[in-house]
Formats: sequence, structure tokens, C-alpha cells
Amino acid sequence: MPAHTVASLVGITYGPGGQMSFTALHPELGRIDATLADLGQGLEWENVYRTRPRIWLTCPECGHGVHAKLSPRRTRYFAHDPGRSPDCQLSVESADHHLLKLVLAEAIRRAGWSADLEVPAPDGAWRADVMATSPTSDEDRMAWEAQLSPITDDDIQMRTDRYAADDIDVCWVSSRDRVPWLCTVPAIAVNPASPPAAAERWMVHDGLVRFDYARGGWVQVDDVTLATFVRWVLGDGLVFHAIGRRYRRIHLPGSNATTRRSASWTTQRSIDAEAEHEAMRQQQEAAKRAREARAREAEERRKQAEARRKQAERERQREEEERRRAEAEERHRLFMIEMERQRAVREAERREQQRKQQEQARQEELARLERDRQEQAAAQQWWSGVSAAQLTELLDHVARLSMTERTSRALLRSDEGDRDFAYGIPVYTGRHLYGVIRPCPHSLGRLPTSSRIFVRNAREKALITATGLVNADLVTHFDLPDHEQTTLL
Ligand SMILES: [Zn+2]
Repeated sequence: MPAHTVASLVGITYGPGGQMSFTALHPELGRIDATLADLGQGLEWENVYRTRPRIWLTCPECGHGVHAKLSPRRTRYFAHDPGRSPDCQLSVESADHHLLKLVLAEAIRRAGWSADLEVPAPDGAWRADVMATSPTSDEDRMAWEAQLSPITDDDIQMRTDRYAADDIDVCWVSSRDRVPWLCTVPAIAVNPASPPAAAERWMVHDGLVRFDYARGGWVQVDDVTLATFVRWVLGDGLVFHAIGRRYRRIHLPGSNATTRRSASWTTQRSIDAEAEHEAMRQQQEAAKRAREARAREAEERRKQAEARRKQAERERQREEEERRRAEAEERHRLFMIEMERQRAVREAERREQQRKQQEQARQEELARLERDRQEQAAAQQWWSGVSAAQLTELLDHVARLSMTERTSRALLRSDEGDRDFAYGIPVYTGRHLYGVIRPCPHSLGRLPTSSRIFVRNAREKALITATGLVNADLVTHFDLPDHEQTTLL
């Protein structure tokens, strides 16, 4: 707040450095307060203002002489006499500082508490800008400090600790836009009324929050007047609260912006709501962790089941392969057995066939030998009825016939029956077969085809042609008698 607006409120004309205060020491009554109607001591303003002779008032801070003054707006205050001590804290306080002290005193008094300005500790450990005292107990006091100049966190903490050592609460109040120590100690930031006015028009713009459970976070309160705030604090309706670690992003009203605060004034109900939300959030997080753990376990179980299934599938495929291989081997073995069996069967068949053929050949041989024996027997029988003379006789006839027919004498090559000529005797004219003499009727099938046959008589010819194997035209007989004329010999 610019100095000229302070001046327009309180109407004080500042000299260099200010030089004003609201309290002074009366030589007989002690401390007097210009902001109180009776100056806190049952005095009239006129008892100190422009008195003759002058009352020697002094500065409670530096002991320098001060005199009562009225601003053009009729605000009462004390001004240091010329030549003041250069290091007096009261005399160098700014106009904004003085104005804020006035506003704080007004708010405290509206709340029903008494307010004393510039109250020092008996041992000098602190000097309260405004000391509020409970209407019910003088021991129940609270300091309100107007802090406009820069101060380190350590210094403001140290000054707060000094109040705490005397069991006095304190609230630091700044009208600056930016207040770095707002979370360090119990504090608020206020907006001066414009134009300057009473505490009812000053608004708390920082340092007061409420917990929005639905939103799950703290929201800065910006619609509370300084007077209301002071009344709530003095009525124990507000607590300076260390905000939970997870809730320090404070929502600013009417926008999506946030700011960070680690501590703030708030109500017990909001503190409870924060605790309740934190418990709910922790429950949700625990539930979420439990869900995630269950999901991880389920995933792990699924992976293990999948691994087991794949292992079982590989096992099954391996067994299937083994089974197929064994089956193939078994088929091959059975095939080889079958091949061997078939080969043995064929071999047995071949041996049987061979045996049958051999048997048949043997039978055939026996039959042939039997036929041969029979033919030989028949041929022997056939020739037994013919003597050598009769044979010679027959040969003579054949020879004569050959001379007639071929002008060549038929000759024997052997005088025995020849098997190949049906046991008859072949005769040749030169190199050519002329015919066969007396082939045996049992063996006619052995004769060369179309061989001429010579027999003794019609009876023999009849025996030969009766077989049906020989054409009768090829059989020649010579009407020789069957029986030898032995008697003639
Ligand atoms: Zn002084």
C-alpha cells in the first residue's frame, strides 16, 4: 500500500523516516495508548494533547521525548520530538506498518478482546505490535505482529519461539503480495481495503485454507475478512495446521492454478476431513497395492501354468515322436518278419513244387521204365515167335522187293530189334532208310513217321494196323507161314 493512501486514511504527515507511534509513556501513569478512547488509563486525549504546561511523554522504545498529535483525519498518535534517537524501532516503522497495527487492534476489539499496541515483554524478549487479551482471563494473551519488512525464516521462527517461551500464541500478518515465511510460522497475508477502511473491508488472501473432500485437497479461502479471521482465531475456531505431505498442492479459488503450502490456518473440521481423506486414500492405495499384488500373482501363476503347459506339450510331442518311431520300427520289424515268412512260404512252395516235380519225374521215369519194360517184354514176345531162318527168309523177300522197287539191295546194319524203330529192324538202300522189318505193335509210336513196314503175313499186318497208329498202305507182307516148317528143315 503506497504511503499516500495510508496518509489519506490516518491523515498523518510523515517527516523523514516516519517518527510516529501509537503508544507513549506518561510520567505518572505509565503506558498510554492513543488508539484507546481513554488512552488505556482513564485519561482524556485533551489531558495529553497540547497541554500547558506540556506533559513530558517519552517513547516506550527509545525513551526520547514524544508529543501527542492529531492527523487531519483526526487520528491520534505520538510523534518523536526533533533530534530523536536514530536507532528507535518505533520511529522508523513505515506508514503501512502503523496502519496495519491500527486495523489489527480494531479487529481484536471487535472480537470482544482488548488490544494493546507496542507491548514489550518485561524482560525485553519481545515487543508485540498488538497484544490481544481475553475478556475472561488476563493470562490468555495472543500477539499479532504486522510484518512488512523482509525477515529470514530463522529470525521469524526465533521471535515466535520467544513468545512461545512465555506461553503466548502469535500470528504474523503481512500486507505484501509475496510472503516467503508464510508456512514457517502461524501467519496470513491480507489485502488492504481500497480506499483504506476498517478491518471489515480488509480481506485475508493467503494463509487460510479449507479442505474440499470431494476435490481431495486443500482450497485457499479468499472470502474472509481480517476482522472475521481474527474473531475465529481468538475464538479457537482456527488452528495453524501442518498440512499432510500429500496435500501441499493448494488449489487457488476460481482457477485451476495451485500453489504449494506446508502449513496454514484452517478449521478443525478441515483437519479432520484431511485425516479422513488421507485414511481413505491410504485404504485405496492399500487396496490398489493388494489388487496389483493379486494381479502380479495371477500373472505369475498364469506364466507358470503356461510354462507347465508348454513343457507338457513338448513332453507330449516327444512321446508322440517316440511312439511314432517305435511304431515305425515295429512296422518295419513286422514287415521284415512278413517278408521272411513270405520268403519261407515261397521257399517251401518252391521246395514242394520241386519235390512234386521230382516225384512226378520219378513217377514218369518209373512209368517210362515200366512202358519200356512192357515194350521190351512185348518185343521179346513179338520176336520169340520168329526164328533166325524165318527172319532171313523175310529179309530175302524184302531185299528182292527193294531190288524191284529201287534197284538196290536193302541191307541190315544190325540184326537186332532197334528201340528207336519200335523194336523192328531198319533196312537201308544205300544211305536211305528203306523200311522197318517187323516193328512191335506195342511200340509203333516210336516209328519215324511214314516209315514203310515189312511183316511176314496178313496176320502180322492185321496186328499192326489194328493199333490205328499206322496207315495200312505202308504195311507190306509176304504171305509167309506163321510156323516154321521144322519138319522140312
Ligand atoms: Zn522512540
